[in-house]
Amino acid sequence: QAKSTDGQGYYLFDNQLREKLQQKTMIAKYLHSALENHEFVLHYQPQVNAATGDVIGLEALVRWNHPEKGLLLPGYFISAVEEAGLMTQLTDWVIHEVCRQLAAWKREGLQILRTSVNISNSWFYNRNLIPMLMSIFGHYGLAPDCLEFEITESTALLEEHYPLLQQMRDRGIIVSVDDFGTKYSSLNYLKHFPVNKIKIDRTFIVGIGQSSIDETIIKSIAYVASQLGYHLIAEGVEKREQANFLLAHGCKHVQGFLFYRPLPAGEIGPLLKRLESAMKAGTAGIDECK
Ligand code: C2E
Ligand code: MG
Ligand code: MG
Ligand code: MG
Repeated sequence: QAKSTDGQGYYLFDNQLREKLQQKTMIAKYLHSALENHEFVLHYQPQVNAATGDVIGLEALVRWNHPEKGLLLPGYFISAVEEAGLMTQLTDWVIHEVCRQLAAWKREGLQILRTSVNISNSWFYNRNLIPMLMSIFGHYGLAPDCLEFEITESTALLEEHYPLLQQMRDRGIIVSVDDFGTKYSSLNYLKHFPVNKIKIDRTFIVGIGQSSIDETIIKSIAYVASQLGYHLIAEGVEKREQANFLLAHGCKHVQGFLFYRPLPAGEIGPLLKRLESAMKAGTAGIDECK
């Protein structure tokens, strides 16, 4: 690709690079005001029991509602947030916003679902996190088990975090490892992990029906999870055959476009209402994780 040109003699590669740099400058410049001006919004992707169709939880996914560029996905700005040193601030905002939203749904009389939040490694440092979290839950009148913290494999490997992760678990917060299987291949470290859930990464799900290696990896992860007592969910499920394969191998919880895309909060409330009526009618509804 570096060889083709855009007609003005620039290499496309250079164009992409230039655009990336412009993005970084733009992002760094506007991030502070974006936080202040409430330009970040959360979308929520329902997680499903593929055997019953019941919704079992939500994952909160951040978007930047940029005044000129429109709705931007995290792939566009998350690394810039990290580099600008604003990740902790953004994560704090996400946690507050999820709790505020869950409390609002609860006030509307809806059955609230456990909601996952993506937590980056930098969030863990230098703060009294447990008292901070407990005061947020207290403020919104929520139980700590309403939240699930998705951490990455690299965070999960840092033993310095173990006492804190253990304290979170002791208080009922679910801790899951996101994008499982993408970074470290040794299963040995699972022995010491203070986490209780594994999310099988989409890159393996894509291989179902295509790659026997991916299928073997999924089967192995599912086997280890069941033997060691980890909850399990697969992400990026787009095809019925993928869901069927996962079901056949003991992974019934899934998240993916086959069932739901990430939706704005305004569409989740009505969805929860519909699911509750469906449940009363005896069809697929909500299966609270509690
Ligand atoms: P993730 O935590 O692994 O989230 C799943 C991503 O896969 C989401 O992308 C979701 O929209 C997408 N996805 C879900 N189902 C499917 C599917 O069936 N097919 C395909 N192709 N994609 C699917 P999104 O929202 O663009 O987020 C990308 C990543 O950005 C997330 O990956 C997460 O690592 C990060 N991220 C999102 N929100 C936050 C946040 O609040 N804080 C932090 N630190 N990171 C976040
Ligand atoms: Mg995630
Ligand atoms: Mg993931
Ligand atoms: Mg992923």
